[in-house]
Amino acid sequence: MAQEVSEKSPPPPAGEGRGGGLMDKLVSLAKRRGFFFQSSEIYGGIQGIYDFGPLGVALRNNIKRAWWRSMVELRDDVVGLDAGIIMNPKAWVASGHVQNFTDPLVECKKCHRRFRADQVSGPRHEEDGGEFTESQQFNLMFKTFIGPMENSSTQAYLRPETAQGIFVNFSNVLNSSRMRPPFGIAQIGKAFRNEITPGNSIFRLREFEQMELEYFVPPADEMKWLEYWKEQRLAWYLTLGIRGEHLRLRPHDKDELAHYARGAFDVEYQFPFGWSELEGVAARGDYDLTAHQKASGKDLSYFDDITRVRYVPHVVEPSAGVDRTMLTLMIDAYHEEEVRGEQRVVLRFSHGMAPIQVAILPLSRKQPLTEMAQKVEHELRPYFRTEYDDTQGIGKRYRRQDEIGTPFAVTIDFETEKDQAATIRSRDEMSQVRVPLAQLRTELQDRLA
Ligand code: ATP
Repeated sequence: MAQEVSEKSPPPPAGEGRGGGLMDKLVSLAKRRGFFFQSSEIYGGIQGIYDFGPLGVALRNNIKRAWWRSMVELRDDVVGLDAGIIMNPKAWVASGHVQNFTDPLVECKKCHRRFRADQVSGPRHEEDGGEFTESQQFNLMFKTFIGPMENSSTQAYLRPETAQGIFVNFSNVLNSSRMRPPFGIAQIGKAFRNEITPGNSIFRLREFEQMELEYFVPPADEMKWLEYWKEQRLAWYLTLGIRGEHLRLRPHDKDELAHYARGAFDVEYQFPFGWSELEGVAARGDYDLTAHQKASGKDLSYFDDITRVRYVPHVVEPSAGVDRTMLTLMIDAYHEEEVRGEQRVVLRFSHGMAPIQVAILPLSRKQPLTEMAQKVEHELRPYFRTEYDDTQGIGKRYRRQDEIGTPFAVTIDFETEKDQAATIRSRDEMSQVRVPLAQLRTELQDRLA
């Protein structure tokens, strides 16, 4: 089961810990099979930005759907929002991002490469011995301009988090819905951070996607809700099929906490490069609403007409990343095993997360096999995420489906026309059973449930 730890443990040295070389294998699989690619690769790529291929999009959609289902649709106390990526720049001044959303940066005086000051060891660059400059604060927000003039009055920012779009809409949602604290507003969307050192494939990106909930509560209940949400959020990752022993909750030390935060936990995963943040869950007090209230001059308080008390709600924020969840799912699902003297690579995705749930494979490209297989695929398509494939030898096709994590393959063979049956092959047991075509759907539904 997932554990709670009290101390930040240092990452294991490179190559040690879980799966030396696993990241390289995974990145190569991701490209070969179409999960993710370096962005604009034909031009040499662009650092910190990735594009998601057909299977990557399917996996991300499954993640986002599962999050939205559990955080919004299955609850009566959370509503959704989709705010603009570019906001009035005054919002970022009020939130503190213009002033404080910075990382300490040093530059090597010899090679002029730049690093995060907290990620270098010592006063000199290890590679070339160059001395580092004094550390300066570097703001991570991407800047852009609104309209045809480029000057300081038209400068705007790409949002570095989705949360502020929720805070500035607090009273719009309150006044247009029937929500009252405790209640939450959820949002999924792109965020941008000009990270000094992006890396570890899609772990630290410059363009990424967040899934955030701002949960507004009466001030006295804030810590109770922090406890509630940290447990809920950890449990959510288990429902995706991630193994509990690779997950933990880590409370923030006092010196890690933002000055306004009353408590925070990270949900961490044991990545091949060490335990790292998958999601942050923080009790933010009334910091954000009060800051926007002051800067905008608009009242962002709530009047409780039962207790007759007016207050600015406090906020508990679970903030997750689509990209890190995707990477985690792929790492956690990755298995290598030997089958009859050959190596088999399998992504053991849970049935809910698998990009393709059922592959339909005619044993050969001959008629009537392909026609029958296409018909089966069309019949199953409304019920499952399916894929039809008649390209190579059946062994290679099974291997591909294993590598992309497809739980079941239906093989249409030379007997099918006679016995009106097909074979279901299971990814995990590698067992094969013969099933009448008329029962394929219910058989698969039972197995995928
Ligand atoms: P880190 O300490 O790893 O930089 P953070 O504490 O700055 O992360 P938050 O601001 O709490 O991150 O963001 C919430 C979530 O958004 C993170 O847990 C992560 O899943 C995701 N996230 C943040 N920054 C990035 C990034 N650069 N690339 C990919 N995902 C990110």
